[in-house]
Amino acid sequence: MFDTLSDRLAATFKSLRGKGRLSEEDIDATCREIRIALLEADVALAAVRPFVAAVKERALGAEVSQALNPAQQVIKIVNEELIKILGGETRRLRFAKQPPTVIMLAGLQGAGKTTLAGKLGRWLKSNGHAPMLVAADLQRPNAVTQLQVVGERAGVPVYAPEPGNGVGDPVKVARDSIEYARAKQHDVVVIDTAGRLGIDEELMRQAADIRDAVGPQEILFVLDAMIGQDAVTTAQAFLDGVGFDGVVLTKLDGDARGGAALSVAQLTGRQVMFASNGEKLDDFDVFHPDRMASRILG
Ligand code: GDP
Repeated sequence: MFDTLSDRLAATFKSLRGKGRLSEEDIDATCREIRIALLEADVALAAVRPFVAAVKERALGAEVSQALNPAQQVIKIVNEELIKILGGETRRLRFAKQPPTVIMLAGLQGAGKTTLAGKLGRWLKSNGHAPMLVAADLQRPNAVTQLQVVGERAGVPVYAPEPGNGVGDPVKVARDSIEYARAKQHDVVVIDTAGRLGIDEELMRQAADIRDAVGPQEILFVLDAMIGQDAVTTAQAFLDGVGFDGVVLTKLDGDARGGAALSVAQLTGRQVMFASNGEKLDDFDVFHPDRMASRILG
């Protein structure tokens, strides 16, 4: 996903190679190139500005190092700033003192929530938990069945409304699922919620109602990394409408520019916690800002 960004940054650093010392002009030119590379990759301007300013300030003030040549020094600074923009430390899931831990998924339709529920369920299971998935997306006709299929594939039970009992009322389904999980000793509940194609007041209210009914430890905002600049406005709308604690980036295997997703942590103050990079259940991992920065820098 970040090939173009990687290539552009590599070309920028290459032009510094062989220089014994960097002049202010060299640093200015490099920062200009970095700025263009980030903007072309769709990183939001509001995130690019402070990023480039920090790189410039640090590059200008950098001690002449015996161990690193100027190009390496700039790469080191960019690497550290990338880690910072991506959220710094890896953020782990919080678990409730009294089980069940409730994780609620929110995001636009097609973002990859249902798929993610399966991936997360399987990941939790392989980490020694007894998770359960909850079908609280009653908007999309096939969503319940889709979650059941995903759950079966992941080997994780799915709580779904019985026909005629709670159908149409996702808040009741979510609330009842917690009682059920407690009775069946599931220690983590992952609630899939409805998404619309666009941001929608009613959808936001419904998600907020589910939130209020179940008091989740974690609300994860699921974001399709392919949606480009819309990522930032969508994230902001969900932050205002429902609130969230962490971000999951999906479709990182795609060939879109993806940079907008890189700025989401910085612009919302919420860290990316997991990343999804394919349709298969195993195409999923904890998000590590340092590894992502290394991947971008090649
Ligand atoms: P939801 O509407 O948010 O529940 O989204 P779905 O889970 O139904 O996903 C929408 C589509 O995206 C499906 O075709 C998924 O197979 C696909 N999808 C989900 N995650 C990924 C991913 O990480 N990479 C790719 N390539 N496709 C994904």
